[in-house]
Amino acid sequence: MVDVAIIGAGPAGLSAGLYASRMGLKSVIFEKLTPGGQITLSSEIENYPGVCDVKSGLELMQCWPNQAQKFGCEIVSHEVKSITKENDIFQIALDDTLQQAKAVIVATGASPKRAGFDNEEKFLGKGISTCAVCDGFFYRNQEVAVIGGGDTALEEALYLSSIASKVYLIHRRDKFRAAPATVNRVLQNPKIEILYNSVVQEAYGEDFVEGIKVNKAGELVDLKLPGVFVFVGNTKNTQILKNGDEFICKMCDDGSVCVDLNMNTSLQGLFAVGDIRSQAKKQVVCAAADGAVAALEAVRYLDK
Ligand SMILES: Cc1cc2nc3c(=O)[nH]c(=O)nc-3n(C[C@H](O)[C@H](O)[C@H](O)COP(=O)(O)OP(=O)(O)OC[C@H]3O[C@@H](n4cnc5c(N)ncnc54)[C@H](O)[C@@H]3O)c2cc1C
Repeated sequence: MVDVAIIGAGPAGLSAGLYASRMGLKSVIFEKLTPGGQITLSSEIENYPGVCDVKSGLELMQCWPNQAQKFGCEIVSHEVKSITKENDIFQIALDDTLQQAKAVIVATGASPKRAGFDNEEKFLGKGISTCAVCDGFFYRNQEVAVIGGGDTALEEALYLSSIASKVYLIHRRDKFRAAPATVNRVLQNPKIEILYNSVVQEAYGEDFVEGIKVNKAGELVDLKLPGVFVFVGNTKNTQILKNGDEFICKMCDDGSVCVDLNMNTSLQGLFAVGDIRSQAKKQVVCAAADGAVAALEAVRYLDK
Protein backbone atom coordinates (compact mmCIF):
# COMPACT_ATOMS: atom_id res chain seq x y z
CA MET A 1 0.00 0.00 0.00
CA VAL A 2 1.24 3.50 -0.85
CA ASP A 3 0.72 6.66 1.19
CA VAL A 4 -0.60 8.63 -1.75
CA ALA A 5 -1.77 7.59 -5.20
CA ILE A 6 -1.95 10.30 -7.83
CA ILE A 7 -4.12 9.79 -10.90
CA GLY A 8 -2.83 11.63 -13.99
CA ALA A 9 0.67 12.81 -14.89
CA GLY A 10 -0.11 16.26 -16.24
CA PRO A 11 1.34 19.37 -14.57
CA ALA A 12 -0.96 18.97 -11.54
CA GLY A 13 -0.21 15.28 -10.96
CA LEU A 14 3.55 15.53 -11.56
CA SER A 15 3.84 18.50 -9.22
CA ALA A 16 1.85 16.59 -6.58
CA GLY A 17 4.17 13.58 -7.05
CA LEU A 18 7.28 15.73 -6.66
CA TYR A 19 6.03 17.40 -3.48
CA ALA A 20 4.58 14.23 -1.92
CA SER A 21 7.69 12.11 -2.49
CA ARG A 22 10.06 14.89 -1.42
CA MET A 23 8.03 15.17 1.82
CA GLY A 24 8.78 11.47 2.41
CA LEU A 25 5.46 9.98 1.34
CA LYS A 26 5.50 6.70 -0.57
CA SER A 27 3.90 7.94 -3.79
CA VAL A 28 2.80 6.55 -7.11
CA ILE A 29 1.39 8.30 -10.18
CA PHE A 30 -0.85 6.39 -12.61
CA GLU A 31 -0.89 7.75 -16.17
CA LYS A 32 -2.84 6.23 -19.03
CA LEU A 33 -0.87 7.96 -21.81
CA THR A 34 2.58 9.56 -21.87
CA PRO A 35 3.38 11.83 -18.89
CA GLY A 36 3.02 15.56 -19.59
CA GLY A 37 -0.72 16.16 -19.96
CA GLN A 38 -2.61 18.37 -22.41
CA ILE A 39 0.11 20.99 -22.71
CA THR A 40 2.22 18.55 -24.71
CA LEU A 41 -0.25 19.23 -27.55
CA SER A 42 0.83 22.86 -27.72
CA SER A 43 3.66 23.86 -30.03
CA GLU A 44 4.52 26.92 -27.92
CA ILE A 45 4.15 28.01 -24.32
CA GLU A 46 5.48 31.35 -23.17
CA ASN A 47 3.58 32.06 -19.96
CA TYR A 48 5.18 29.56 -17.58
CA PRO A 49 7.09 31.79 -15.14
CA GLY A 50 10.85 31.35 -15.11
CA VAL A 51 10.97 29.66 -18.50
CA CYS A 52 11.93 32.62 -20.64
CA ASP A 53 12.75 30.99 -23.97
CA VAL A 54 9.64 30.02 -25.89
CA LYS A 55 9.38 26.22 -25.67
CA SER A 56 6.90 23.67 -26.92
CA GLY A 57 4.65 22.08 -24.31
CA LEU A 58 6.51 18.82 -24.83
CA GLU A 59 9.88 20.44 -24.08
CA LEU A 60 8.49 22.22 -21.02
CA MET A 61 7.19 18.97 -19.52
CA GLN A 62 10.18 16.79 -20.39
CA CYS A 63 12.01 16.87 -17.07
CA TRP A 64 8.94 16.95 -14.79
CA PRO A 65 8.64 13.13 -14.50
CA ASN A 66 12.39 12.80 -13.79
CA GLN A 67 12.22 15.43 -11.07
CA ALA A 68 9.41 13.54 -9.30
CA GLN A 69 11.15 10.17 -9.78
CA LYS A 70 14.38 11.61 -8.33
CA PHE A 71 12.67 11.73 -4.92
CA GLY A 72 11.26 8.21 -5.22
CA CYS A 73 7.89 8.83 -6.84
CA GLU A 74 6.94 5.87 -9.01
CA ILE A 75 5.22 6.54 -12.35
CA VAL A 76 3.13 3.64 -13.57
CA SER A 77 1.76 3.49 -17.10
CA HIS A 78 -1.83 2.42 -16.45
CA GLU A 79 -5.34 3.72 -16.77
CA VAL A 80 -7.30 3.97 -13.52
CA LYS A 81 -10.87 2.73 -13.89
CA SER A 82 -12.39 3.71 -10.56
CA ILE A 83 -11.69 4.74 -6.97
CA THR A 84 -13.56 3.66 -3.85
CA LYS A 85 -12.90 4.11 -0.15
CA GLU A 86 -13.41 1.35 2.43
CA ASN A 87 -12.41 1.63 6.10
CA ASP A 88 -10.17 4.65 5.49
CA ILE A 89 -8.29 2.90 2.67
CA PHE A 90 -8.71 3.82 -1.00
CA GLN A 91 -9.03 1.01 -3.54
CA ILE A 92 -7.78 2.01 -6.97
CA ALA A 93 -9.06 -0.26 -9.73
CA LEU A 94 -6.76 -0.79 -12.71
CA ASP A 95 -7.70 -3.14 -15.55
CA ASP A 96 -7.16 -6.36 -13.64
CA THR A 97 -5.72 -5.41 -10.25
CA LEU A 98 -6.55 -3.30 -7.22
CA GLN A 99 -4.00 -0.93 -5.66
CA GLN A 100 -4.37 0.48 -2.17
CA ALA A 101 -3.56 3.97 -0.94
CA LYS A 102 -4.10 5.97 2.23
CA ALA A 103 -4.80 9.16 0.27
CA VAL A 104 -5.60 9.93 -3.37
CA ILE A 105 -4.94 13.02 -5.47
CA VAL A 106 -7.05 13.09 -8.65
CA ALA A 107 -5.37 15.05 -11.44
CA THR A 108 -7.10 13.66 -14.52
CA GLY A 109 -7.61 17.06 -16.20
CA ALA A 110 -10.22 18.04 -18.71
CA SER A 111 -10.58 17.57 -22.41
CA PRO A 112 -11.82 20.47 -24.54
CA LYS A 113 -14.66 19.36 -26.80
CA ARG A 114 -13.95 19.39 -30.53
CA ALA A 115 -16.07 21.33 -33.03
CA GLY A 116 -15.79 18.40 -35.43
CA PHE A 117 -14.38 19.93 -38.66
CA ASP A 118 -11.80 18.32 -40.94
CA ASN A 119 -8.13 18.61 -39.84
CA GLU A 120 -9.10 19.93 -36.39
CA GLU A 121 -7.03 17.26 -34.63
CA LYS A 122 -4.10 17.58 -37.08
CA PHE A 123 -3.64 21.32 -36.43
CA LEU A 124 -4.30 21.30 -32.67
CA GLY A 125 -1.46 23.35 -31.20
CA LYS A 126 -0.45 24.41 -34.72
CA GLY A 127 -2.97 27.16 -35.35
CA ILE A 128 -5.95 25.57 -33.62
CA SER A 129 -6.22 26.36 -29.94
CA THR A 130 -8.63 25.93 -27.07
CA CYS A 131 -7.02 28.58 -24.87
CA ALA A 132 -6.99 32.31 -25.72
CA VAL A 133 -4.89 33.35 -22.70
CA CYS A 134 -2.32 30.74 -23.70
CA ASP A 135 -2.11 31.27 -27.44
CA GLY A 136 -3.75 34.61 -28.25
CA PHE A 137 -0.46 36.51 -28.16
CA PHE A 138 0.93 34.47 -31.07
CA TYR A 139 -1.63 36.18 -33.34
CA ARG A 140 -0.89 39.77 -32.38
CA ASN A 141 -2.16 42.09 -35.17
CA GLN A 142 -3.33 39.12 -37.24
CA GLU A 143 -6.84 37.85 -38.00
CA VAL A 144 -8.27 34.98 -35.98
CA ALA A 145 -11.52 33.01 -35.80
CA VAL A 146 -13.41 32.00 -32.67
CA ILE A 147 -15.91 29.13 -32.82
CA GLY A 148 -18.77 28.95 -30.32
CA GLY A 149 -21.77 30.84 -29.00
CA GLY A 150 -21.65 30.51 -25.22
CA ASP A 151 -20.16 32.73 -22.52
CA THR A 152 -16.62 31.37 -22.91
CA ALA A 153 -16.58 31.86 -26.69
CA LEU A 154 -17.82 35.44 -26.45
CA GLU A 155 -15.56 36.40 -23.56
CA GLU A 156 -12.54 34.94 -25.35
CA ALA A 157 -13.54 36.73 -28.57
CA LEU A 158 -13.55 40.02 -26.62
CA TYR A 159 -10.17 39.19 -25.09
CA LEU A 160 -8.70 38.29 -28.49
CA SER A 161 -10.03 41.52 -30.02
CA SER A 162 -7.53 43.39 -27.84
CA ILE A 163 -4.66 41.44 -29.43
CA ALA A 164 -5.70 40.43 -32.95
CA SER A 165 -6.41 42.81 -35.82
CA LYS A 166 -9.81 41.20 -36.39
CA VAL A 167 -11.88 38.38 -34.84
CA TYR A 168 -14.42 36.36 -36.82
CA LEU A 169 -16.94 34.91 -34.37
CA ILE A 170 -18.45 31.81 -35.96
CA HIS A 171 -21.70 30.54 -34.46
CA ARG A 172 -23.91 27.80 -35.80
CA ARG A 173 -27.15 29.41 -34.64
CA ASP A 174 -28.74 32.84 -35.23
CA LYS A 175 -28.68 33.77 -31.51
CA PHE A 176 -26.04 33.53 -28.77
CA ARG A 177 -26.47 31.54 -25.56
CA ALA A 178 -24.19 33.91 -23.61
CA ALA A 179 -25.21 36.49 -20.98
CA PRO A 180 -26.96 39.53 -22.56
CA ALA A 181 -24.32 41.97 -21.22
CA THR A 182 -21.53 39.96 -22.88
CA VAL A 183 -23.52 39.70 -26.12
CA ASN A 184 -23.94 43.51 -26.15
CA ARG A 185 -20.23 44.07 -25.68
CA VAL A 186 -19.52 41.72 -28.59
CA LEU A 187 -22.11 43.41 -30.83
CA GLN A 188 -20.58 46.82 -30.11
CA ASN A 189 -16.99 45.73 -30.71
CA PRO A 190 -15.84 47.01 -34.13
CA LYS A 191 -13.07 44.38 -34.35
CA ILE A 192 -15.48 41.43 -34.10
CA GLU A 193 -17.37 40.26 -37.19
CA ILE A 194 -20.09 37.70 -36.45
CA LEU A 195 -20.91 34.88 -38.83
CA TYR A 196 -24.28 33.49 -37.73
CA ASN A 197 -25.70 30.19 -39.01
CA SER A 198 -22.17 29.16 -39.87
CA VAL A 199 -20.25 25.94 -39.45
CA VAL A 200 -16.52 25.43 -40.06
CA GLN A 201 -16.01 22.60 -42.53
CA GLU A 202 -12.24 22.32 -42.61
CA ALA A 203 -8.95 23.91 -41.69
CA TYR A 204 -6.20 23.84 -44.30
CA GLY A 205 -2.48 24.58 -44.51
CA GLU A 206 0.90 22.86 -44.72
CA ASP A 207 2.41 22.47 -41.23
CA PHE A 208 0.32 25.23 -39.62
CA VAL A 209 -3.19 26.56 -40.26
CA GLU A 210 -3.41 28.94 -43.21
CA GLY A 211 -7.19 29.25 -43.38
CA ILE A 212 -10.61 27.72 -42.82
CA LYS A 213 -13.61 26.97 -45.01
CA VAL A 214 -16.93 27.93 -43.52
CA ASN A 215 -20.44 27.01 -44.57
CA LYS A 216 -22.41 30.20 -43.94
CA ALA A 217 -26.08 29.36 -44.42
CA GLY A 218 -25.28 27.36 -47.55
CA GLU A 219 -22.63 29.72 -48.95
CA LEU A 220 -18.97 28.63 -48.82
CA VAL A 221 -16.70 31.29 -47.24
CA ASP A 222 -12.89 30.98 -47.30
CA LEU A 223 -11.19 32.81 -44.42
CA LYS A 224 -7.42 33.10 -44.76
CA LEU A 225 -6.13 33.35 -41.19
CA PRO A 226 -3.52 31.62 -39.01
CA GLY A 227 -5.43 31.19 -35.73
CA VAL A 228 -8.65 29.36 -34.86
CA PHE A 229 -9.95 29.19 -31.28
CA VAL A 230 -12.50 26.50 -30.48
CA PHE A 231 -14.77 27.09 -27.46
CA VAL A 232 -17.59 24.59 -27.69
CA GLY A 233 -17.37 23.34 -24.10
CA ASN A 234 -15.11 20.93 -22.26
CA THR A 235 -15.46 17.60 -20.57
CA LYS A 236 -13.88 17.09 -17.18
CA ASN A 237 -12.39 13.64 -16.77
CA THR A 238 -14.38 12.69 -13.69
CA GLN A 239 -15.55 9.23 -14.74
CA ILE A 240 -13.25 7.45 -12.26
CA LEU A 241 -15.01 9.19 -9.37
CA LYS A 242 -18.28 7.46 -10.19
CA ASN A 243 -19.47 4.49 -8.18
CA GLY A 244 -22.46 3.23 -10.15
CA ASP A 245 -24.62 6.29 -10.82
CA GLU A 246 -23.28 8.25 -7.85
CA PHE A 247 -20.08 10.26 -7.46
CA ILE A 248 -17.97 9.45 -4.41
CA CYS A 249 -17.52 13.16 -3.63
CA LYS A 250 -19.47 16.39 -4.12
CA MET A 251 -19.56 17.70 -7.68
CA CYS A 252 -20.23 21.29 -8.75
CA ASP A 253 -22.91 22.34 -11.25
CA ASP A 254 -20.43 22.74 -14.12
CA GLY A 255 -19.26 19.12 -13.72
CA SER A 256 -16.04 19.96 -11.86
CA VAL A 257 -15.05 18.45 -8.50
CA CYS A 258 -15.87 20.82 -5.63
CA VAL A 259 -12.76 21.56 -3.53
CA ASP A 260 -11.77 23.95 -0.78
CA LEU A 261 -8.65 26.14 -0.84
CA ASN A 262 -6.50 23.16 0.22
CA MET A 263 -7.85 20.98 -2.62
CA ASN A 264 -9.85 18.80 -0.19
CA THR A 265 -12.92 17.22 -1.75
CA SER A 266 -15.95 16.35 0.36
CA LEU A 267 -14.45 12.84 0.91
CA GLN A 268 -11.66 12.90 3.50
CA GLY A 269 -8.28 11.94 2.08
CA LEU A 270 -9.39 12.55 -1.52
CA PHE A 271 -8.01 15.66 -3.24
CA ALA A 272 -8.72 17.07 -6.71
CA VAL A 273 -6.29 19.35 -8.55
CA GLY A 274 -5.77 21.13 -11.86
CA ASP A 275 -8.35 21.48 -14.62
CA ILE A 276 -10.73 18.99 -13.02
CA ARG A 277 -11.35 20.98 -9.85
CA SER A 278 -13.91 23.73 -9.24
CA GLN A 279 -12.99 27.24 -10.45
CA ALA A 280 -9.86 25.99 -12.20
CA LYS A 281 -8.00 28.66 -14.14
CA LYS A 282 -6.89 26.07 -16.73
CA GLN A 283 -3.25 27.13 -16.79
CA VAL A 284 -0.12 25.01 -16.29
CA VAL A 285 1.18 27.23 -13.51
CA CYS A 286 -2.13 26.99 -11.63
CA ALA A 287 -2.33 23.20 -12.06
CA ALA A 288 1.24 22.83 -10.74
CA ALA A 289 0.42 25.02 -7.74
CA ASP A 290 -2.69 22.92 -7.00
CA GLY A 291 -0.58 19.75 -7.03
CA ALA A 292 1.83 21.21 -4.48
CA VAL A 293 -1.00 22.40 -2.22
CA ALA A 294 -2.73 18.99 -2.30
CA ALA A 295 0.50 17.10 -1.53
CA LEU A 296 1.22 19.33 1.48
CA GLU A 297 -2.36 18.85 2.63
CA ALA A 298 -2.04 15.07 2.15
CA VAL A 299 0.96 15.10 4.52
CA ARG A 300 -1.19 16.84 7.13
CA TYR A 301 -4.07 14.38 6.55
CA LEU A 302 -1.78 11.34 6.93
CA ASP A 303 -0.14 12.80 10.06
CA LYS A 304 -3.58 12.78 11.70
C1 LIG B 1 -3.49 23.21 -27.14
C2 LIG B 1 -3.37 23.71 -25.72
C3 LIG B 1 -2.58 24.81 -25.45
C4 LIG B 1 -2.43 25.24 -24.14
N1 LIG B 1 -1.59 26.29 -23.90
C5 LIG B 1 -1.37 26.68 -22.63
C6 LIG B 1 -0.43 27.73 -22.36
O1 LIG B 1 0.18 28.31 -23.26
N2 LIG B 1 -0.24 28.07 -21.05
C7 LIG B 1 -0.89 27.46 -20.02
O2 LIG B 1 -0.63 27.79 -18.86
N3 LIG B 1 -1.81 26.47 -20.25
C8 LIG B 1 -2.07 26.08 -21.53
N4 LIG B 1 -2.99 25.09 -21.77
C9 LIG B 1 -3.78 24.56 -20.65
C10 LIG B 1 -2.96 23.53 -19.84
O3 LIG B 1 -2.46 22.54 -20.71
C11 LIG B 1 -3.85 22.88 -18.78
O4 LIG B 1 -4.43 23.87 -17.96
C12 LIG B 1 -3.04 21.93 -17.89
O5 LIG B 1 -2.39 20.95 -18.67
C13 LIG B 1 -3.93 21.24 -16.87
O6 LIG B 1 -3.13 20.32 -16.16
P1 LIG B 1 -3.77 19.06 -15.39
O7 LIG B 1 -2.60 18.34 -14.81
O8 LIG B 1 -4.86 19.49 -14.52
O9 LIG B 1 -4.47 18.16 -16.52
P2 LIG B 1 -3.91 17.53 -17.88
O10 LIG B 1 -2.80 18.30 -18.44
O11 LIG B 1 -5.14 17.32 -18.71
O12 LIG B 1 -3.35 16.11 -17.43
C14 LIG B 1 -4.22 15.08 -17.02
C15 LIG B 1 -3.52 13.75 -17.21
O13 LIG B 1 -4.31 12.73 -16.64
C16 LIG B 1 -4.27 11.58 -17.49
N5 LIG B 1 -5.48 10.78 -17.22
C17 LIG B 1 -6.77 11.15 -17.43
N6 LIG B 1 -7.59 10.16 -17.02
C18 LIG B 1 -6.81 9.16 -16.53
C19 LIG B 1 -7.08 7.88 -15.94
N7 LIG B 1 -8.32 7.43 -15.79
N8 LIG B 1 -6.02 7.11 -15.55
C20 LIG B 1 -4.75 7.55 -15.70
N9 LIG B 1 -4.43 8.76 -16.26
C21 LIG B 1 -5.45 9.56 -16.64
C22 LIG B 1 -4.26 12.19 -18.89
O14 LIG B 1 -3.77 11.26 -19.84
C23 LIG B 1 -3.35 13.38 -18.70
O15 LIG B 1 -1.99 13.07 -18.94
C24 LIG B 1 -3.15 24.62 -23.08
C25 LIG B 1 -3.98 23.52 -23.36
C26 LIG B 1 -4.09 23.05 -24.66
C27 LIG B 1 -4.97 21.85 -24.95
